[in-house]
Amino acid sequence: MSYLAKNYNRKKISFNSGKGSYLFSTDGKKYLDMLSGIAVNSLGHAHPKLVKTIREQSKKLWHVSNAFQIPEGEKLAKKLCQKTFADYVIFQNSGAEATEAAIKVARRYFYSIGKPNKTRILCIKNSFHGRTLATIFASGSKKMTEGFGYVGGFDHFNFGDHETLKKKITKNTAAIMVETIMGEGGIKVIPDWCLKELRKLCDKKKILLILDEVQCGISRSGDFLAFEKSKVKPDIVPIAKGIGGGFPIGAVLMNKKVAIGMTPGTHGSTFGGNPLAMAVGNAVMDIVSAKKFLNNVKKSSKYFFSKLNKLKEKYPSIIKEIRGRGLLIGIQLQTDQTKFIKKLMDNKLLTIRAAENVVRILPPLNVKIKEINLALKIIDKVCSELK
Ligand SMILES: *Cc1c(COP(=O)(O)O)cnc(C)c1O
Repeated sequence: MSYLAKNYNRKKISFNSGKGSYLFSTDGKKYLDMLSGIAVNSLGHAHPKLVKTIREQSKKLWHVSNAFQIPEGEKLAKKLCQKTFADYVIFQNSGAEATEAAIKVARRYFYSIGKPNKTRILCIKNSFHGRTLATIFASGSKKMTEGFGYVGGFDHFNFGDHETLKKKITKNTAAIMVETIMGEGGIKVIPDWCLKELRKLCDKKKILLILDEVQCGISRSGDFLAFEKSKVKPDIVPIAKGIGGGFPIGAVLMNKKVAIGMTPGTHGSTFGGNPLAMAVGNAVMDIVSAKKFLNNVKKSSKYFFSKLNKLKEKYPSIIKEIRGRGLLIGIQLQTDQTKFIKKLMDNKLLTIRAAENVVRILPPLNVKIKEINLALKIIDKVCSELK
């Protein structure tokens, strides 16, 4: 009997500890974790630096109100701005809060320059921006919005349908908001040329570009933020998942143009940016934003992709496509992935599904080559059993 509401279809397995890329179940089994709490445990489990940070900060100070200065938050905001396009940061506690705040920043900017009717946000149909009322309607998925009434203000176009995208921009459009790499939607990468065209289009129409990097950001793609490779500069970027390494942190990065709308009282969060969260965020940031660390992510990624593509050639009747970038990897199967994921789990490899028959592989960013080899061996075995 569980007293938790049934909004999740949970697997009958629980864990009592983790170390690096491994999780240990309460029934004494060792699993290779290649989903990292959905791109959250960016440094694996029980990373010694993060353990030390949280232990030390917890003895000093956990929480104070945003009514006061919070030096740990100032420090992390400065690092994020120095590392990215951003001039200002607002801290939140989750991805959905960050995307909602991103929408608020966009709308408030137009309000502050005397264009209060520019409120509509244009998004990709069946994308994923979170589970709050506004963000489910931003995602535009029937499954997520069914039975939850209506929140207006969002328009949609299909991934890759540039004609509809252009047509849907009206005088009331405030911003285009897309995931740089669609996560839940099936690990679909927006190509660099496309990001560049999006930027041009936004400039031409005088609207804002919001890139949701909640899943693909924080070094997951091999760059600190996934759009960096395209050289495009967005106006607003929500981040979350990987930045806390398992501690709930969200943030909205923004340039100074749009930040003018965010005057005192326009937005807030009780927990957002508290000293405990910020101490952890600083520790994660210092590790994952280092050039050497990023080069290592790229190296692991290159190896993983080349081996997965070999498996695709070996099992064309099972694997349709290998998608993604960095350590945000999708194995698209020819048919439904449920059985495949179950078999991987039976072989002690944890992965998670995404749309379009995709098996998502999201290892910790510091995953070792021998762990990648173990994952490949299990994937090979499962393919051969299902062939
Ligand atoms: C996970 C995710 C969110 C929502 O994050 P939560 O922390 O679950 O609220 C938003 N956008 C993208 C792209 C995500 O992958």
